[in-house]
Amino acid sequence: MKLIVAKKAGFCMGVKRALEMVLDRAREENNDIFTYGPMIHNPQVVSLLSLKKISSSRDLDDFSEEVVCFISAHGISPERRKSLKATGACICDASCPDVVKVQGIIKKYALKGYSTVIFGDRGHTEVEGLLGFSAGNGMVINSVAEVDELPPLEKVCLVSQTTRNMDEFRRVADAVRARFQEVEVFNTICSSTLSRQEEVIEISEKVDAMVVVGGKNSANTARLSLIAGEFVPVFQVETAEELNMDELSRYHTVGVTAGASTPNWLIQGVVDHLRGWTWRKKNLPLRWLYSVAAVIVKANFFIAFGGACLTAAAMRLLGIQILWPALLLSFSLFLSIYNLNIFADQPAIFLNQPSRYRFFHNNRLILRWLNALSLATAFVCAAFLGVGPFLLTVITLLSGLAYSSTILPSSFPGTRLKNLTGLKEFLSSLGWGVVAVLVPAAATGPDRPSVVAIIVVFLFVFSIMFVRSTLFAIRDIQGDRLVGRETLPVVLGVERTKIVLLFLITLNALGLIVAGILGWVPVSGYYYLAVIAYGCLYLILYHKRILYRGLVHEVLVDGQLILAGLIAGLFR
Ligand code: SF4
Repeated sequence: MKLIVAKKAGFCMGVKRALEMVLDRAREENNDIFTYGPMIHNPQVVSLLSLKKISSSRDLDDFSEEVVCFISAHGISPERRKSLKATGACICDASCPDVVKVQGIIKKYALKGYSTVIFGDRGHTEVEGLLGFSAGNGMVINSVAEVDELPPLEKVCLVSQTTRNMDEFRRVADAVRARFQEVEVFNTICSSTLSRQEEVIEISEKVDAMVVVGGKNSANTARLSLIAGEFVPVFQVETAEELNMDELSRYHTVGVTAGASTPNWLIQGVVDHLRGWTWRKKNLPLRWLYSVAAVIVKANFFIAFGGACLTAAAMRLLGIQILWPALLLSFSLFLSIYNLNIFADQPAIFLNQPSRYRFFHNNRLILRWLNALSLATAFVCAAFLGVGPFLLTVITLLSGLAYSSTILPSSFPGTRLKNLTGLKEFLSSLGWGVVAVLVPAAATGPDRPSVVAIIVVFLFVFSIMFVRSTLFAIRDIQGDRLVGRETLPVVLGVERTKIVLLFLITLNALGLIVAGILGWVPVSGYYYLAVIAYGCLYLILYHKRILYRGLVHEVLVDGQLILAGLIAGLFR
């Protein structure tokens, strides 16, 4: 089975903005947080929000001075807002700006004496809110056929619910214009909906069946299913568990898209499931190859091997002999630290990497033994290298553990070190610098590289790993927000973070060039510019959403480290 995954699947701007607002508030708020109606039409996200004590209610008795009340992206009518205010609750408005625009149009034309006709779903939160701006002179139609059922009207202002189908709206507009004399038509379908609908049509024309991921109560998910259903059979699911593989296996090419309220991890769960199933059905050698590759990546052998490669590159840049115990130390220490962090961080892994979570859960016993073995190996190698490397290894390991442990008082915002703003990327990159650069440098005895060379190479490794770690933090941003982890993209926002990364990549390249010119690193150091260029290229691919999730994404990001190892192997 061939898969085509929609690039525009997942949270739309309005839903993302509303969720970020409520989660940010939940971080600093001691009072109860209620959303007026569900914040998002997705049961999985709603239940996760409830774990963060963000509940949903439409009962005014639940709102009081002690409560913070969030209005969802769908907006609310002026009357309902007034009654909420009267309860004394602190109102936070997360209405989507695109919905607010429609409310403004209705209000303006209602004042001019126009009757409002909304093309939308009766009873939908957004439509109910919009009706409230029509000064009691609004009506909802759900199809072209219902235009004839409208009462005689003098002046009509026609708008659409932001998530309706464009073609249908055009037909409705024609019918309304034909029926009434004075008509003002506003196409208020939002750009996020439009681009999603265009993409779903484009994919539907290329596939034999379509999987649409999203809440059963989500209007825009249902709409995507209807649009795709005009071309191919559609399977709408909330989670991967609902996929009917017996049915789906009949199709050669399958598309995957998702509604505006579907989080990344649910989409990823479905994609992983379909991809895994496809590979399981492939001929034996390929299937075997994929399974082995998946185990190597999920069990962190690949990143550990990348660690050894980067350590080799660092030794070349330091101008010292390749020390095999240092390479083995890097491999085993990174393997155990990455695995320990996964065991210590189950909720975030569950959200960000569902298939890795399942892998760790199913193989926990073997992986724990593997951890013990790799830790023991790391210490034997460190002891072999000398007192300095041994102490540095102990410090790195303890820092790695402290990073995941609860070491701050519970009243502190984020009781784990990793929950402090942006510290995750900083600390892990620092750890890489210590193991890949300081440990081999400390093991060289009197011919130790100069301090300035150590600093330059340390910064080289630090920057490469900071970019890597932040790229994964961008991928995991939705899950991290929900578990309250303050990664750099969570705090700065994705676009600003990408600018920081580009800046860091440029600085790293300049640093290496200057260090080469000044003779701080060997001339072969210039070859490592290819490693930096690789990171830059990958950032561009990621920005254009050409490669942005899954096993291939992870392998390609860490391919940068393997490239560094290759250069170290080829050039002195
Ligand atoms: Fe806003 Fe469009 Fe999302 Fe509705 S679908 S919340 S209008 S971005």
